[in-house]
Amino acid sequence: MTMRLPNFEYVAPATVDEAARLLSDPGRSSLIVGGGTDLFPKIKRRQAAPTTLVSLSGVDEMRGVRFDSAGNCVIGASTLLADLAVSHQVPPVMAIAAASIASPQIRNTATVGGNLCLDTRCNYIDMPETWREASGHCLKDGGEVCWVAPRGNRCWAINSSDLAPVAVALEGSVRLTSVHGERLIPVEDLYHDDGIACHTKSFEEILVELLLPSGGTRATYRKLRRRGSIDFPLLGVAASARFDEAGTCVSARMVIGAAAPAPVRATEAEEFLIGRQFTDEVIGEAAGIASGPVRPQDNTDTGSRYRKWMVPVLVGRALSDLVADDG
Ligand SMILES: Cc1cc2nc3c(=O)[nH]c(=O)nc-3n(C[C@H](O)[C@H](O)[C@H](O)COP(=O)(O)OP(=O)(O)OC[C@H]3O[C@@H](n4cnc5c(N)ncnc54)[C@H](O)[C@@H]3O)c2cc1C
Repeated sequence: MTMRLPNFEYVAPATVDEAARLLSDPGRSSLIVGGGTDLFPKIKRRQAAPTTLVSLSGVDEMRGVRFDSAGNCVIGASTLLADLAVSHQVPPVMAIAAASIASPQIRNTATVGGNLCLDTRCNYIDMPETWREASGHCLKDGGEVCWVAPRGNRCWAINSSDLAPVAVALEGSVRLTSVHGERLIPVEDLYHDDGIACHTKSFEEILVELLLPSGGTRATYRKLRRRGSIDFPLLGVAASARFDEAGTCVSARMVIGAAAPAPVRATEAEEFLIGRQFTDEVIGEAAGIASGPVRPQDNTDTGSRYRKWMVPVLVGRALSDLVADDG
């Protein structure tokens, strides 16, 4: 089936302010485009119909990695995933997560901002218009039923970004800009547990940069997928922790990705880990606690039972990584 792009206006402003002005123009129905690796297929499948695409590729100030005066690692939202994957300036776990995304061709085009603002995905929506029509439009597609959980009244499309759980585990924040001003929010607060209204930012707000605090954190990312390349995560586990000199955990973050409409923090397991050393027994117990509330749905290319079963396995591997990492 050939899927062609419809006509639309494409504008490529040179500054964030100009992009913000274009996005606020009531005469246009605009969307932001980074690399377009997710958005263009969506437009081809008629899941989005903007009159205007505001490209950020010409905004130089949004590209590259720097450190601010507070020591934060600041990653411009238009930085390519390919550059992030080989960067020695960003925390290694960020580079590892970037390198796991899609394929080299896609990483050469895809951006950090596009990854963090990735729309939620589901088997019932990510298909051509005629197929969606034939199966009966789902909630996210303007219909009345969620085909994943027909008895419920909410959308379960999942957040499949690989960078999002890592950025949450690293206690990152994002700077958002629009004509109405600027705000800095924790990455965690960028997401809603709702497959339709999955981001808390308005369509006018540009994610300008990702800020990662520096210092003393060990971190890791484990990704479950069918093949070693190309595939979206079926599950992702990002974990970070700080330890005292005796090897006792003083703070921990554990974030489960690709299991719900937003990255999910395993807060009970995080609390359990504080004050403990990561022995095999502690890791096993924490993995059980972390997986309890995680309920993957049947909306990826493997069954939900397998993904649920893999949660403690991946959490256990991630926590073991933190022990193996000597800093
Ligand atoms: C075959 C294939 C495999 C893939 N595998 C993976 C994978 O393994 N892991 C993964 O995480 N992703 C995967 N992706 C999805 C996608 O390629 C990546 O998430 C990519 O990082 C998206 O970035 P982009 O710049 O191309 O985003 P775009 O497609 O340009 O945009 C995505 C969304 O973000 C919005 N947006 C973009 N930039 C900004 C910004 N600065 N501020 C606010 N909103 C913005 C757009 O409006 C759009 O809604 C895959 C895609 C394909 C086609």
